[in-house]
Amino acid sequence: MKNVGFIGLGNMGGPMAINLIKAGFSVSVFDLVPTSVERLTAAGAQAAASAEAAVQNVDVVISMLPASKHVESLYLGEAGLLSKIAPGTLIIDSSTIAPESTRKVADAAKAHGLSMIDAPVSGGVAGAQGGTLTFIVGGSDTALADARPLLEAMGQNIFHAGDAGAGQVAKICNNMLLSVLMSGTAEALQLGVNNGLDPSVLSEIMRKSSGGNWALEVYNPFPGVMETAPASRDYEGGFLVDLMIKDLGLAMASALDTGTATPMGSLARSLYVAHGDNGFGQVDFSSIQKFFQRD
Ligand code: NAD
Repeated sequence: MKNVGFIGLGNMGGPMAINLIKAGFSVSVFDLVPTSVERLTAAGAQAAASAEAAVQNVDVVISMLPASKHVESLYLGEAGLLSKIAPGTLIIDSSTIAPESTRKVADAAKAHGLSMIDAPVSGGVAGAQGGTLTFIVGGSDTALADARPLLEAMGQNIFHAGDAGAGQVAKICNNMLLSVLMSGTAEALQLGVNNGLDPSVLSEIMRKSSGGNWALEVYNPFPGVMETAPASRDYEGGFLVDLMIKDLGLAMASALDTGTATPMGSLARSLYVAHGDNGFGQVDFSSIQKFFQRD
């Protein structure tokens, strides 16, 4: 499995494809944005003129697209990619999408003689760049075994959550929790600062106390506290508020489907939607700090 067709070269897909090239895979790439393709060809990829061209003569197809509608329209339908990919090819979709969309595409792939895993990721842009992503996989043992060398070239941890769609369910649960942790951390930091505390001192106290969490460890939302965090570069790049709103929408849909109470996730979604409406949709999700800041 040496030849890879990679579709979707954005904040995540671009660096993931570069890590495959560094690991010795031959990678043919396509994105709707020509400059993203050019960045990859400079790193050693072969540019394809279309998604269809990118998946010719490959062993594996990887997609990293924004949302369910992009994945469904890429693969399904008469003009969809499934009918253009050679039988026996493995598909790895790493986009975060609705579990039912994943199952729809995986069923259609099977009907075309293709195997597919959903392999959404955690770890952000830094994880994609550093090859330290966590892959959360849904699909068969055999398909995961075939995918493993590629996933290992792009990430550090691989979890098998269950059958098709299970990777998406686990990812959605994780991101709902992340949104609650991030907004709670921002709220607590603001309370401390408004009461005269230094945000760095408070962060260190909470990090080492019972409030310690991932945001305080590696992704502090308060500007200036953590040099490497998006907060210290005006929340540029990273994981966009709009994508978090999408994931929280997926969580709410799954909660409705199964009659699950998700009051914390629901509140976090309302906060993020209001924050997005305030003009922060295209910056990192830790910018929720600004929601709590006074002028
Ligand atoms: P992005 O918007 O930066 O990249 C998506 C890319 O897909 C864009 O370059 C776009 O041009 C391309 N694209 C869309 N439709 C296409 C098509 N039909 N053919 C070819 N290219 C197409 O998004 P991202 O930040 O890279 O995120 C991708 C996925 O990963 C999303 O589902 C997101 O939720 C998930 N994710 C993102 C992060 C993060 O920190 N950014 C972390 C974990 C998971």
